[in-house]
Amino acid sequence: MSEASTRLDRRGFLTGASTLAAGSALVAAGGLSVSSASASAPLAGQPMAGAIRRKVGSFEVTALLDGYLDIGSEQVLGHDEDIAANLRKEAFVEGSGYRLPINAFLLNTGDKLVLVDAGTSDQMGPTLGKLGGAMAAAGVTPEQIDAVLITHMHPDHLFGVLKPDGSKAFENAELLLPETDYRFWFDDAALNAAPDAFKPFFLGARKSADAYAANQTLFGSDKELLPGVTSVDLAGHTPGHVGFRVDGGDDGLFIIADAVHVSSLQFAQPDWGIAFDTDPAQAAKTRRKVLDEVSSDGHLVAGSHLPFPGFGHVARSGDGYRFAPADWQYSN
Ligand SMILES: [Zn+2]
Repeated sequence: MSEASTRLDRRGFLTGASTLAAGSALVAAGGLSVSSASASAPLAGQPMAGAIRRKVGSFEVTALLDGYLDIGSEQVLGHDEDIAANLRKEAFVEGSGYRLPINAFLLNTGDKLVLVDAGTSDQMGPTLGKLGGAMAAAGVTPEQIDAVLITHMHPDHLFGVLKPDGSKAFENAELLLPETDYRFWFDDAALNAAPDAFKPFFLGARKSADAYAANQTLFGSDKELLPGVTSVDLAGHTPGHVGFRVDGGDDGLFIIADAVHVSSLQFAQPDWGIAFDTDPAQAAKTRRKVLDEVSSDGHLVAGSHLPFPGFGHVARSGDGYRFAPADWQYSN
């Protein structure tokens, strides 16, 4: 069998026998061999941009990967190493830490282009800040974004609204912020009470919001912010943390934002939290409520830190839950 026969195009696939014969003839005639063709393509040496699109009723929703963050087990509240070691084994997690993808979601409502969360810009290191490349891969420019909806004002969700030089990354966009979160991050008493390590979170949140002061809206929960997109209170992770229900008519999606951070642990152990939770007890209560709801109604969810692209369903499992990633959507 000729090596050249592995060069299958669609027509060749349908007529494999003739391709084999043609391939043999090509090699016999001194044509291109597979080994020399492969050698001319150098290894890329870097991952491809992360952008995956699916249809949700009349909307298109594109998951955009900003990159990833590695955390240690000491950043997981309630972490029990015996239980965790078993969960890591079940999930094929290597090592003793956890890798959190950071996903944003682009909604095309047919009328508007709306970005849900904005990644990190250059604020969280070299494994992050890839949102611009992901948007370009999705064929969208920052100037086209009409609105940026923020789930909460943490660095990995908000700081990407600024370019590294501090100017607006989305010139034409209105910035929509959850009002309760805005009040918290602009509260000087909360800033002064925060550990030094968290003070940059406050300052960065203020700087990001202030850049959009002329085109900014604060919103409450259970508000339809644009047709088919409604805010849902998910308080706990931060005081004003929200998710968004996306109703595309025939089909819907619940963006659960940071209800879950470490998928390999927190579906099975929903009471475990994350060091960044402002109110860990409330965050755990919210997580259980959300997971209980979506495992009952079977709705498609999207998570900011669920394995990219972050779409899937939640089912009950034992005393906890399990996540079932959604199939790739091949067509509309
Ligand atoms: Zn987050």
